[in-house]
Amino acid sequence: MGGRDPNVVLLDENGKRSDGRTVNETRKVTIKAGVLKNANGSAYIEFGENKILAGIYGPRDVHPKHLSNPDTGILRCRYHMSPFSVGERKNPAPSRREVEISKVIKEALEPAVILDQFPRTVVDIFLEILQADGGTRCAALAAASVALADAGIPMRDMVSACAAGKVADTVILDVNNEEDQAGQADMPMGYMPNLKKITLLQLDGVLTPEEYKKCVEVGIDGCNQVYEIQKKALEEKYFSKGDQ
Ligand code: ADP
Repeated sequence: MGGRDPNVVLLDENGKRSDGRTVNETRKVTIKAGVLKNANGSAYIEFGENKILAGIYGPRDVHPKHLSNPDTGILRCRYHMSPFSVGERKNPAPSRREVEISKVIKEALEPAVILDQFPRTVVDIFLEILQADGGTRCAALAAASVALADAGIPMRDMVSACAAGKVADTVILDVNNEEDQAGQADMPMGYMPNLKKITLLQLDGVLTPEEYKKCVEVGIDGCNQVYEIQKKALEEKYFSKGDQ
């Protein structure tokens, strides 16, 4: 996807990446909770150049009804890239990639949400990618988790997310689009920071067992950093001075 620049220097002699970051640095992350008045919960995230909106509806009746579970509520997730989110107009119809990402995000959130008080209902998560620059599934997952909390859905823990990867034979934190295209590995992770449990782990590329271990460690460190920003977003909405 997108043209690959064969001359791009992914890691220079000073240990700086193509966007100026060090190997252990995430892109700038900002999150705002409660940005949509008509959704039950919402969040907006900027993760580097990624811009994503998350909207939550529910718990509400399931349609079609046969999907409902008499013992618990269910989660449903739609990850969607806007036509203008990438360089060349993206067909707005769901691609195989979007179907896959919707599924992995839903499965990464399921261990955190507690829906047994809401049998026969669904909680819908809509993720709209407004601008993409590598790592959208992690950014979308982090936004979805904040939006679920904003909707008041009971949760065991927040789900945080960040990718690790490998460029120029070096393990790095938070892979951007250029590094994803020209690098050697991309490993998106979802993580519950208090329960210390991984809920999403994918790997595109090849790693040695040592590199794999390092990537998991670095990825968890990134997730912990993103978690602090998720918490701040909720604190800003619910505990800002004006509300007390
Ligand atoms: P993620 O966004 O989670 O890293 P991928 O690894 O599949 O998922 O995609 C990497 C990046 O490739 C995306 O973030 C986006 O910038 C770019 N990309 C994805 N789909 C398209 C597309 N249809 N056209 C152009 N670029 C795309």
